Amino acid sequence: MADILVYSEKQAAALELVFKGKELGTALGMGLSAAAFGPAVADSAGAFGAHGADRLFVSEDPALEGLSVDVVAEALAQVAREAGATMVLIASTRRGKELAPRLAQKLGAGCVTDVSSLVLTDGSLVASRYAFGGNTVARENLTTELKVFAVMPKTFEIDGPVAGAGAVVQAALTLQPSAAKMVSRRPKEGDAVNLDAAERILGVGRGFAKRDDVGLGEELAAVLGAELACTKGLSDFGWLPEDRVIGLSGAKTKPDFYLAVGVSGQIQHTVGISSAKLIAAINTDKDAPIFQLADYGIVGDLYEVLPALVEKLKAL
Ligand SMILES: Cc1cc2nc3c(=O)[nH]c(=O)nc-3n(C[C@H](O)[C@H](O)[C@H](O)COP(=O)(O)OP(=O)(O)OC[C@H]3O[C@@H](n4cnc5c(N)ncnc54)[C@H](O)[C@@H]3O)c2cc1C
Repeated sequence: MADILVYSEKQAAALELVFKGKELGTALGMGLSAAAFGPAVADSAGAFGAHGADRLFVSEDPALEGLSVDVVAEALAQVAREAGATMVLIASTRRGKELAPRLAQKLGAGCVTDVSSLVLTDGSLVASRYAFGGNTVARENLTTELKVFAVMPKTFEIDGPVAGAGAVVQAALTLQPSAAKMVSRRPKEGDAVNLDAAERILGVGRGFAKRDDVGLGEELAAVLGAELACTKGLSDFGWLPEDRVIGLSGAKTKPDFYLAVGVSGQIQHTVGISSAKLIAAINTDKDAPIFQLADYGIVGDLYEVLPALVEKLKAL
């Protein structure tokens, strides 16, 4: 029986794909394997099994230290052959986007990255991805025997337990160390942010006239207990770092509440907030596209609305 193989360097993303992989495997009559590399990964077998994986291929090969993409691609190619996998699901993280085509090249497989939905239609999988800068959705079907899909994190909901055997298999790998050498490692400047997991997000856009004014957004975010995020438009000015960008080139979020301030609502931004439970927007332009998506809106000048909101909320 052919297998579906799942991998991500981020366990939460891997488990989401395992859950979806189980559903697809059941429908297609395929088994489900996952791979995890590095020290103590075998301890995760229970979690992978509880999400539907039949087998978890593990390795602590020293060449995998640092999870260099070239070595991981080779390791996954070998695991895919060992597992008899004809389909590989990878999380389309920054690393995953680089990993998927490298792996596909090694396997002679077709590859789609940035997948935003994967639907079984007439026995074959149709992958959707945003195209033309996010202005349209392309539906793509791989006709190769081996297939690699890199799926954007948070595309699938984990909905209840589905047991798999979760058997641990020590992968038989023959790896060379990466040709790229790690010279030094230092933490990113600025605060670390995890927009993927944030429950409340305040997104700021080019409606702010200068960098210092973003402080108004930061103040409201602090009162709301929200993470501060931004549009690419704002980050391109260098006012906030890239890891705070939401959208096609940034984070895909799923907060309970998203407040857009001075954000026009272009599709390249809104693809990253479309799963928010509640969206509110503040914008001077009543025809701004963000209002078509928003549950609540204030047509007004952020320089007047934000201080008033902060005052009201602090008084509560
Ligand atoms: C391939 C590609 C990928 C992209 N990826 C991303 C991405 O991942 N994320 C992303 O965000 N963008 C992305 N973009 C850019 C995107 O197309 C938009 O240009 C960007 O999102 C616009 O940012 P903005 O809303 O801050 O600015 P604008 O579109 O300039 O909007 C500013 C808004 O502020 C309002 N405003 C002005 N003054 C005030 C005020 N005083 N009070 C209240 N409101 C005010 C205006 O009415 C306007 O609606 C991408 C573009 C391309 C081509």
